[in-house]
Amino acid sequence: MRIIESIPEMQQASEGWRGEGRKIALVPTMGYLHEGHLELMRAVRPHSDVLVISIFVNPAQFGPGEDFERYPRDLERDIRLATETGVDIAFIPQVKEMYPGGYQTFVNVTEVTGPLCGRSRPAFFRGVATVVAKLFNIVKPHASVFGEKDFQQLVTIRRMVQDLNMDIEIIGHPIVREADGVAMSSRNAYLTPEQRRKAVRLNRSLREAQTLVQGGEKTGGAILKKVREVLAEGDDVRIDYAQLCNPGTLQEVTRITGPTLLALAVHVGVARLIDNSVLNPST
Ligand code: AMP
Repeated sequence: MRIIESIPEMQQASEGWRGEGRKIALVPTMGYLHEGHLELMRAVRPHSDVLVISIFVNPAQFGPGEDFERYPRDLERDIRLATETGVDIAFIPQVKEMYPGGYQTFVNVTEVTGPLCGRSRPAFFRGVATVVAKLFNIVKPHASVFGEKDFQQLVTIRRMVQDLNMDIEIIGHPIVREADGVAMSSRNAYLTPEQRRKAVRLNRSLREAQTLVQGGEKTGGAILKKVREVLAEGDDVRIDYAQLCNPGTLQEVTRITGPTLLALAVHVGVARLIDNSVLNPST
């Protein structure tokens, strides 16, 4: 695996591959890789000639007081795991090259970034859309893969690509979970063993909601009541949001009439965990 740190070097390399007709796929990450990231890479590997991952903890998507400084980092391990997974290129830029002095351009996707995480993390999606647009201009991929764990992020990127006529295929990948159902996340590293046990409640609440919906429950309020019961706020557990929305627009829904996104953000200890599931009513 080749490591590229400089933006012009990455652009020139990609230009060369494109000239040779090779298909480039990009998996953007913030590093501290886990099986969730690696599954995204494995999924796109057979469909790409050059598999590029980026490792960049993007300061623009962290708000004041959030965990930018203490976000877990282990570059040596990331490089080993990416190499073992068959990645061709790890693009690892420096903050000062991505956002040099005088930087002042941001991508603002408006409606779909309003609800859910947009409420509690107002700068987040602007930072995400901006860095992903930059990565697309630098790596020039034909396709790029994003996890459904960050469902709103995936919807935002799809919107950006469509609205700005970016000629890039966006591929969504299902959530990768630990054996006990907890969605894999670099932030799980923040959890104490006791908090880690409580983190199971997120996925459990999603499953209970699905059971209710399959049993014919259509009232959003009843479903969210069950979800809140299972999440059981208290010691170390605080719900940021538990919401039902249209999976395309992310607008809130109160009655289940078709596939409906149940999205959760829950503080467990110092970690803010997100998870989601698309609930399908029985027909
Ligand atoms: P991150 O490093 O957290 O920015 O994540 C990089 C990419 O991996 C994003 O597209 C995430 O949605 C995706 N990802 C992270 N965790 C998971 C997971 N458990 N399942 C599926 N995709 C994931």
